[in-house]
Amino acid sequence: MFTLEVCLECQKESKSLICTSCIQKIKRTHNQPQEPISYGAYEGVLKNLIHLFKYENKFGLAKPLADLLIDLVPKDIDCIIPVPLHFEKLQERKYNQSALLAKELSQKLRLPLFLNVLKKKIKTPSQTDLSKTQREKNILGVFSVENENKIYAKNILLIDDVYTTGATVQECQKVLLSHRAQKVFVLTLAKS
Ligand SMILES: [Zn+2]
Repeated sequence: MFTLEVCLECQKESKSLICTSCIQKIKRTHNQPQEPISYGAYEGVLKNLIHLFKYENKFGLAKPLADLLIDLVPKDIDCIIPVPLHFEKLQERKYNQSALLAKELSQKLRLPLFLNVLKKKIKTPSQTDLSKTQREKNILGVFSVENENKIYAKNILLIDDVYTTGATVQECQKVLLSHRAQKVFVLTLAKS
């Protein structure tokens, strides 16, 4: 017997925090080879759910949201790394939503999760209202790598919630590759 929960989007009883009919309303992304992969467009149901997950303490959404990503994970991944938050931001927010997603994926796929490799050493202001160029400038040099032996010659799956201009994930990719990771695949829930 299932314990019924309530879908956080439509408030109807459901087997999970996101019901099947709400999942079907998400506009899927047409992923191109060699590009960051994402599940859907950052709008409607998916945008609401990410907002609840990120800002409204609905961290129980990590599991059903990670379920959406499972089939999109490329083959030959060695380890999973989330886009980190600066530690002060982490204290304010209490949790890093990307790390929660990464943790669910690492459990389901039985892949190592590294939370102590990629670090955000400089706090950046909100990127929301900035242009692509401003974002790239803002994010330059804010990430660092510790324990680099862990990622030597590894294929990394980098997890973030939303892909906007790509400035953040590209900077993470650059830093990881400069510390001799082999490949860095980017997977996000949504693309805006
Ligand atoms: Zn629903």
